[in-house]
Amino acid sequence: MILTAGIDIDEVLRRFVDRLIEVYKKDYPDHEIKEITEWKLSPFFPIGKGINNYYAYSRAPEIYGHAACFEGAQEFLDNLKKLGCNVILISSQPSDIAKEFTIKWLSWLNFSYDALVFTSQKYKIHCDIYLGDSPDNIEELIKYGKRAVYFTRKWNENKSGERVSSFNEFIKLIEEIIKNYTDSIDYTNDTNYNDNDDFAIGAI
Ligand SMILES: [Mg+2]
Repeated sequence: MILTAGIDIDEVLRRFVDRLIEVYKKDYPDHEIKEITEWKLSPFFPIGKGINNYYAYSRAPEIYGHAACFEGAQEFLDNLKKLGCNVILISSQPSDIAKEFTIKWLSWLNFSYDALVFTSQKYKIHCDIYLGDSPDNIEELIKYGKRAVYFTRKWNENKSGERVSSFNEFIKLIEEIIKNYTDSIDYTNDTNYNDNDDFAIGAI
């Protein structure tokens, strides 16, 4: 069984918000930024809606190219691969420059994945399971009948639905899906089975 996992980038693998605040504070040292508790960023920054242009264009290289990743992010993707998953990174980036620096960022930090797709319509990319933090994206995926899991962040913690709070929890979920699938296979009518066959355990 090969599972395809659709993994979001920002605020799952990449510390976008922390980096945005860091860069913003250099440009506006006197501005006070409120704690970000909602998905929409403009209410938390004194420049209001200007924040959208700020991260998408004027400071995109510094933000998208130089953000830190969450601890264990590379190992997380490696572990998904070890479990035999197809890993598709699905991300909605706000501009071409953000896309460009996202590609660079993934390569600089040595992430392994099978495909990278930039789209805001994540349901169009077929995956068996999705992981993300955006309430709009997760709700849309669920609406289209997909299995979408929240990665718990401040801005989604009051949303109902399947969720994990760590990379390990998601890995456990994948292991469970694989185990349930394997356990459900009915071998009783397997005509290839022969009592006289020798099986070398571990050679499979
Ligand atoms: Mg995200």
